[in-house]
Amino acid sequence: MGISARDFIERELAGRWIAGPTLKDAIERAGKIESAGMEPMINYLGEAFGSNDREKVKEAVRVYKELIALMAKSRIKGSIAVKPTQLGLLISYGLLERNYSEIVREAKKRGIFVWLDMEESRYVDDTIKLYKTRVKSRTTGICIQSYLRRSEKDIKALSRYNAVVRLVKGAYKPEPEAGFTSRAEVTKNYARLMRMLFEGYGKFTIATHDTKMINEAMKLEKRYKKDISFAMLNGIRNRYAESLASKGYKIFIYLPFGREWVSYSYRRLREAGNFMLLIRSVLSQNA
Ligand SMILES: Cc1cc2nc3c(=O)[nH]c(=O)nc-3n(C[C@H](O)[C@H](O)[C@H](O)COP(=O)(O)OP(=O)(O)OC[C@H]3O[C@@H](n4cnc5c(N)ncnc54)[C@H](O)[C@@H]3O)c2cc1C
Repeated sequence: MGISARDFIERELAGRWIAGPTLKDAIERAGKIESAGMEPMINYLGEAFGSNDREKVKEAVRVYKELIALMAKSRIKGSIAVKPTQLGLLISYGLLERNYSEIVREAKKRGIFVWLDMEESRYVDDTIKLYKTRVKSRTTGICIQSYLRRSEKDIKALSRYNAVVRLVKGAYKPEPEAGFTSRAEVTKNYARLMRMLFEGYGKFTIATHDTKMINEAMKLEKRYKKDISFAMLNGIRNRYAESLASKGYKIFIYLPFGREWVSYSYRRLREAGNFMLLIRSVLSQNA
């Protein structure tokens, strides 16, 4: 029996980063991540669902609730990661808030942590506003991007709420006035924000594959003794992640699943930066 072009790409390319199309794939791969001494951070693929896509939003909420139940049943210790536009932000903020609360409530019952992913810069205000509605539960965290100039202020403001932050460089293209344009500036700001987290936060996650930033965090950790964890994307530098886990560091692996893999894979392709880097990561998962 032949396979379709979509199936081929899904398996051969997107499959490097994504658990597979189904919930069963996600749970199976999550189990493997746990066996390697790390924790899965599971994301159901899909984003930017607009006013024509009410059914997709409903479906996303249903899948997340099923995922939470399955994680509990399979005793998977980990977290889930949701995107505001996937839960209805483009339809209305009210719908997003209802969906997010429902998911956080369900997850809390089963001891599962919920991360809010951060999307394009125009959604940052709503995402932070949403996060504040559930921050007291202590079972939620929010992603902050070092490519945005505003992030320094956001980190300062969120520290008053006892927030849990996951620091990333940023995967979208910020408007020029909102963000740093060169990689060097983005990385410099990452280092600055990381230091702010060590100084003002109790618990946070350093989400990067950048060895220099990870080494710097390890040095700071010795001095500040905070509850830190590292996080990487499934399929990128995972042997390195495993080696850190074997040294006793808490490691999360962001694990997407589902059929809406195009936008996610496009961002990973763009970040691979050059063709050889991509080929290396596809062939060895050890780049
Ligand atoms: C757990 C987690 C959650 C994230 N959540 C969000 C989010 O909610 N919002 C958001 O905007 N972004 C998110 N990101 C993506 C992030 O913003 C960056 O786009 C991505 O992590 C690449 O940046 P870097 O920090 O690894 O640094 P870079 O400087 O891009 O990369 C450092 C090194 O990592 C390796 N590398 C990085 N990417 C690739 C790749 N695709 N293929 C092969 N090698 C690679 C290379 O060796 C590279 O030199 C998340 C990232 C992680 C790890």
